[in-house]
Amino acid sequence: MKVRFARATEFQKELTARVKEYFEANGLPERGLVRMYLKTLVILGWFAASYVALVFFSTAWWAGLLLAVSCGLAVAGIGMAIQHDGCHGGYSNRRWMNYAAGFCMDGVGASSYYWRWKHNVFHHTYTNVTGADDDLETGGLGRLSPLQRRRRIHRVQHLYYWFFYAFLVAKWHLLDDFLCLIKRRVGPHHVPRPRGRDLFVFVGGKLLFATVVFVIPSFFHPFWLVLLFYGAAVAVTGFVLSLVFQLAHCMPEAEFPEAIGDPAQIKEEWMVHQLNTTVDFAPRNWLLTWYVGGLNYQIEHHLFPKVCHVHYPAISKVVREVCEKFEVPYRAHRTFFSAVRSHFRLLRDLGKNDFDQAPTQA
Ligand SMILES: [Zn+2]
Repeated sequence: MKVRFARATEFQKELTARVKEYFEANGLPERGLVRMYLKTLVILGWFAASYVALVFFSTAWWAGLLLAVSCGLAVAGIGMAIQHDGCHGGYSNRRWMNYAAGFCMDGVGASSYYWRWKHNVFHHTYTNVTGADDDLETGGLGRLSPLQRRRRIHRVQHLYYWFFYAFLVAKWHLLDDFLCLIKRRVGPHHVPRPRGRDLFVFVGGKLLFATVVFVIPSFFHPFWLVLLFYGAAVAVTGFVLSLVFQLAHCMPEAEFPEAIGDPAQIKEEWMVHQLNTTVDFAPRNWLLTWYVGGLNYQIEHHLFPKVCHVHYPAISKVVREVCEKFEVPYRAHRTFFSAVRSHFRLLRDLGKNDFDQAPTQA
């Protein structure tokens, strides 16, 4: 499925120029920052310490459970604050370093090759466009867009849909990557099978993951216990990743524009489309900003995905100013919990009502 956007206007030109100016005026590199390399060490160290303690030293069940949760949180951190920048080319100016940062995702079980297609191409280009953005696909289990069909079960989706968030990552690990490989598809899109280096990374990543997560621990613990702690860790990772991404787009404040015509066309230019479909949250929460790799500043991320996430708080000021000048809406929740409440409201409203347009605004 191909969707076209309207031509770029002065807004897009000025916003791009002003952000470029910010980096030049402050003499800052857009990526390749020492603080990112240190952050990488901290997060990988956190995962390694939790894993070693869990597999080799933990004897009590409650300590094991706490360490599995810690592993799950660290893996979500690897996803949001290391591989995400790497896969976008925003980690370093060197291609191999971006690739290596992206490989962290393969190492923790999910294919960075398919992620690049799903996320960089389909989600970032066609954000919140029903039928083209793979992040809206639920297989009928939930209704995340007013343009999706409403089923009876969706009436209570605000109560049950959270439960599926916990399965997101296990599904990637054990099912989705292999289905993509077999079917050569991601949702409605054709995706070629990985070849050469990409195939090597796909297979190598799955083998490394299986060795670290299942083979090594089963030398020291019964296999059912290994599976149980894998389940606990991966549920935490899945829940955190789903929630962070849902709070940026599946919100009552975000729009779900319809692509009309043949070829399908969105009436706004691409950057305005990103602002219409994306919401920031908790911008002043520095600890959250650190942990989620700036994904609480998804507006800035969607506008400038190749800029390293540590710059998002600073360039958000520029983005707000330009939006104000051109009267383009800039949507942000002050806190994490107000964003969670808003997402709950969207699930509830979409489950109970048919809408021509996005439901209640905050
Ligand atoms: Zn992204």
